[in-house]
Amino acid sequence: MKVALVASEAVPFSKTGGLADIAGALPRALERHGHKVALFIPAHHTLTSSKQPITDTGVKLSIPVGARFVEAHVLESKLPNSQVTVYLISQPAYFDRPGLYGAKGVDYEDNCERFVFFSRAVLAAASALELTPDIIHCNDWQTGLIPAYLKTQPQRTPGLGGAGTLFTIHNMAYLGLFKHWEMALTGLEWRLFNWRQLEFHGMLCFLKAGLVFSDMISTVSPTYAQEIQTPRFGSGLDELLRLRQNDLRGIVNGIDLDAWSPAREPMLAANYDMTTAVSGKAACKAWLQRAVGLPERADVPLLAQIGRLDPQKGWDLVAGIADRLLACDVQFVVLGEGHPRYHELLLGLVERYPQKVAAHLGFFDALAHQIEAGADLFLMPSLFEPCGLNQLYSLAHGTVPIVRATGGLADTVVDATPQTVADGSATGFVFHEPTSDALWDAIARALEHYRDHERWRALVHSGMRGDWSWDRGARQYELLYQEILRRTAARASS
Ligand code: ADP
Repeated sequence: MKVALVASEAVPFSKTGGLADIAGALPRALERHGHKVALFIPAHHTLTSSKQPITDTGVKLSIPVGARFVEAHVLESKLPNSQVTVYLISQPAYFDRPGLYGAKGVDYEDNCERFVFFSRAVLAAASALELTPDIIHCNDWQTGLIPAYLKTQPQRTPGLGGAGTLFTIHNMAYLGLFKHWEMALTGLEWRLFNWRQLEFHGMLCFLKAGLVFSDMISTVSPTYAQEIQTPRFGSGLDELLRLRQNDLRGIVNGIDLDAWSPAREPMLAANYDMTTAVSGKAACKAWLQRAVGLPERADVPLLAQIGRLDPQKGWDLVAGIADRLLACDVQFVVLGEGHPRYHELLLGLVERYPQKVAAHLGFFDALAHQIEAGADLFLMPSLFEPCGLNQLYSLAHGTVPIVRATGGLADTVVDATPQTVADGSATGFVFHEPTSDALWDAIARALEHYRDHERWRALVHSGMRGDWSWDRGARQYELLYQEILRRTAARASS
């Protein structure tokens, strides 16, 4: 099968979150399954730090954006350790900027224009390069207009008419909402601006375009696929998702073992696998304590949290238990950036508990790996979590996750109960209510287990034993692509 995967960020070229990890790993896993995959991303300024050679395809396109034409230059590279071609859509005025979507916590004012340009440029490039994909796999709101262009303007995308489309939701909280007059930038007909198609409470909604016009929809865990059909998680689009429930699937993300395996990561103080986890993790923990300036102690439970400083990630629940937690003999290491409110919270904790808390407020990829390896426990008390990658990285590193039972967290972590501990299936601690008290109960249970070395070792090992490689996820996407092709073929012949 020929697949064109389109995303707004991909490791190792650009990254703000989990989408980049997935866009960088899934194409390689699909290639291992025998498919020919091309990846399209914008040529963000971070490109140059990827170390992957970049060449010029020589393809220059004139892309309509509103009443103007803007030039797109198509560059080319490969994903590491693969033959997956990456097409980078270059237009410095749109993409050569410090942030991917905004700066200092504020979205760029021209994001509508930027991603109209990107979407149309991807389609024009796929036509010009004669890629004739069987499947065009779009991801999140930045690519939501692509299925709309394909369905409503097939004459403008020669060679792409036979392609089936999949739209994957990585986070329903980001709708891609713009003022209604920005419709004029899209080149789509105004008649599409109605409540059944592109309009959402008077605004233009890119995510809705993807949900309405794609052949099938997926999201990144079975539980989240159910949750987003309810008003609480559906961001106002739950009714549309219920209408399309027969076209909606949930596939849990995998992890890229080339990048996130403790046996291989070059930035760790010690590499380890299941047989050497005890000594390997001890070396990584001591290194981490020194690196972040906390007392170097093997016996103290080291809790960690990494992620966007956004209410989604449950930082308010953490704020509610911080003093209770830090009254105990523990250490807490945080890596994140985002909302100033949580920057203040974390800096306040560092000031009050300098011997127990270390906070690194920025985006540091190597440190994320070092924390995953060096910590004993990983907190993920998310209010919602489409899939979550950090709990998977934690399991792979023998770091026991404490998670709330939502989305992919519910699908990937097995709570330690007397029964699951006895049968060896327990991998972490799960709580349900989105309250600080419920989080505290889970932490207290975890700390109790931590004191029992044998029980703890069993938990560490059962987490590490799990198979979260992309091969499983790639197989599920492959089946989904085949289903889309069967449907498009049936439609064409009817
Ligand atoms: P989301 O996509 O909602 O941000 P995920 O858990 O799916 O959350 O993925 C987050 C990814 O981003 C992980 O790879 C994580 O290690 C990384 N990450 C998040 N914040 C930081 C940070 N401040 N520094 C380095 N890596 C980070």
